Amino acid sequence: MKFNPKARLDTSQMRRRGGQRTSTGSPLPGGMGGGGFPMPGGTGGGIGGIIVFILIAIVATQCTGVTSIPGLPGGDDEVSTAPDAASLEACQTGEDANNSQLCAILATVNAVQAFWTDALPEQTGQEYREAQMQEFTGGTTTECGQASSAMGPFYCPADEYVYLELGFFDAMLEGQLGAEGGTFAEAYVVAHEYGHHVQNILGDLSRAQSGGSGPESGSVRVELQADCYAGVWANSATTVVDENGEVFITELTQADIEQAIDAASAVGDDRIQERTQGQVNKESWTHGSADQRIRWFMTGYEKGLVSSCDTFSAATL
Ligand SMILES: [Zn+2]
Repeated sequence: MKFNPKARLDTSQMRRRGGQRTSTGSPLPGGMGGGGFPMPGGTGGGIGGIIVFILIAIVATQCTGVTSIPGLPGGDDEVSTAPDAASLEACQTGEDANNSQLCAILATVNAVQAFWTDALPEQTGQEYREAQMQEFTGGTTTECGQASSAMGPFYCPADEYVYLELGFFDAMLEGQLGAEGGTFAEAYVVAHEYGHHVQNILGDLSRAQSGGSGPESGSVRVELQADCYAGVWANSATTVVDENGEVFITELTQADIEQAIDAASAVGDDRIQERTQGQVNKESWTHGSADQRIRWFMTGYEKGLVSSCDTFSAATL
């Protein structure tokens, strides 16, 4: 995956927040109680309590009762010294994105949102509205409750932010989850979270709450649809342009797609259960198996259409 060195990045779509300590501040209504993680079937039924995590299963199984994962930044002794807004300001072009993980995330956010700004009205008649990404270190307060460093990236429908801790990629995705990683693996994760924002706009996100967990549950259907939407973006990724008409991404290879497939597989509920529990229990699935996640990402990638992502009507997931 290569970003176009001439593409202009829009830093207004992302913020950074360093080092709020997770132990300060009380969780908000609808928030994440316990170890900081909403458990399946979790915290109240209000719309504000709907929190969709790409990796709820990981954090729930690995971190029950604790507030951080060893190896992730943001331990108790870490207090923010840098708001890091300055380093985002260093992300001005696609060239910067080719040389910096943070700038690559920003460029991906820009590219994904530029895609949906055109594609969503074209394909569904609904206007897209932008959602900011907040990258944080340590912890941060959200309208969905307190976010800690041990969490995977997530989308909060109550404030329409995507929350991400950059350390997640090294420590979890490419660390404990054993994914190969890479820029496009990270882009897949970002695009998946923005897929939840698209679901929120289309009114489908709340369907996660119907039916609890299990391989056919509403939660799994919502997650697989977000994977499919990530694929829909990937289908058009090299044609999406910035405000000056420059493409954001000039090259997306088969090896890049395989990075996304590898990441989608690593976050499959069955893979996570095998790694963490040594066995697979389908009834507690919330995100779908590795095979399901690959299949729906590829469906979106091959078809490039929102309408190809109807996981709610699909007889076979
Ligand atoms: Zn998700």
